[in-house]
Amino acid sequence: MATARPIYLDHHATTPVDPRVFDAMRPFFLEKFGNAASVNHAFGTEAADAVEQARGEVAQLLGADASSLIFTSGATEANNLALLGVVRAAGPGRHVIATSAEHRSVLDPLRRLERSGTEVTLLPVDKYARVEPGQVAACIKANTVLVSVILANNEVGSINPLREIGEICRERNILLHSDAVQAVGKIPIDLSELPIDLLSLSAHKLYGPKGAGALFVRRDRGRIAIEPLLYGGGHERRLRSGTLPVLLIVGLGVACRIAEEEMDEESARLASLRERLLRGLQQELDGLHVNGHPSERLAGNFNVSFDGVDGEALMSGLSGIAVSSGSACTSADPEPSHVLRAMGVSDALTRASLRFGLGRSTTAAQIDEAVRIVVAAVRKLRSAAATTQSANGS
Ligand code: PMP
Repeated sequence: MATARPIYLDHHATTPVDPRVFDAMRPFFLEKFGNAASVNHAFGTEAADAVEQARGEVAQLLGADASSLIFTSGATEANNLALLGVVRAAGPGRHVIATSAEHRSVLDPLRRLERSGTEVTLLPVDKYARVEPGQVAACIKANTVLVSVILANNEVGSINPLREIGEICRERNILLHSDAVQAVGKIPIDLSELPIDLLSLSAHKLYGPKGAGALFVRRDRGRIAIEPLLYGGGHERRLRSGTLPVLLIVGLGVACRIAEEEMDEESARLASLRERLLRGLQQELDGLHVNGHPSERLAGNFNVSFDGVDGEALMSGLSGIAVSSGSACTSADPEPSHVLRAMGVSDALTRASLRFGLGRSTTAAQIDEAVRIVVAAVRKLRSAAATTQSANGS
């Protein structure tokens, strides 16, 4: 007998490919297999046209010029290209500012740069994991070349004040990069008026395939110098050599088109499901701490810590739902969440925290079932702890 699969509530880690995206990708496996750089025959031009159509779809979602998008393998690569690329092109002795609540794919390249002599300032964040624009201004120095601030936090969903930060950077002639992986397709982003110079995104977070992403590199305010990570055929304006994965890029484009059409309705639906989850847990349990900003947030993110439960034991009681724990989820070496720590959450609560990522396939019935499962698991752990305490006479 097949065991039932858990309810998928981990849409920040990844999303399933939307069937409409899959349908659009399908011909590019077997029929339309051309190399987008082989434009001297029909196979190549068909592939090149598909890539340019996708570039236009991504650009449309972001209010960007299509020529400012560089396709990459995902956001890890886009973040590395932005940070290593800009700093290496600027030469030695530079200073970079980021926040302590960035994703590892920003923090780790910064650490690498630090080892080779770049000065790095990691700004503290507030109790919602947001950075205060004034702090960015206060840390800018004569040798600062780049500021990198995550748009929407992948653990607690808080949205940073990128407009204000961007204005500060513009005044001081410093580039602003944003890891917008969790925000693209979830909240409106209009790069025709938002003062962001570089922005990273990834297809698999918005119902597209794994293995495709993009870096937006602004072109309407002069050329941004970037040292490539890969050298070869000179693809993507010489910034990212390598044969383009046409079918993945087609998937990314269609995923962006769907997101643009459905974003408003979907985020209202997710906000109401989140509310249902919150109310459901609050009705049955006390000792809940909701992490993240109450209003400046992603609709589909719900991060909560529970008093009086052991995190590992909690996760093992939740086999009916697929959620993330307070240990960083998707990295190869899990450790307690640096984001919750940076927000000032205690180690015990960090370990006893869960991240729910609601998404396109999430239903009200699934939320009700998730509430039932979490309430049962927390009650069981708390009553076991109470029994042990009274047996110990404490
Ligand atoms: N930044 C953030 C905020 C993310 O959530 C992720 C995915 N966990 C990444 C970057 C890395 O993206 P990718 O999986 O496309 O490399």
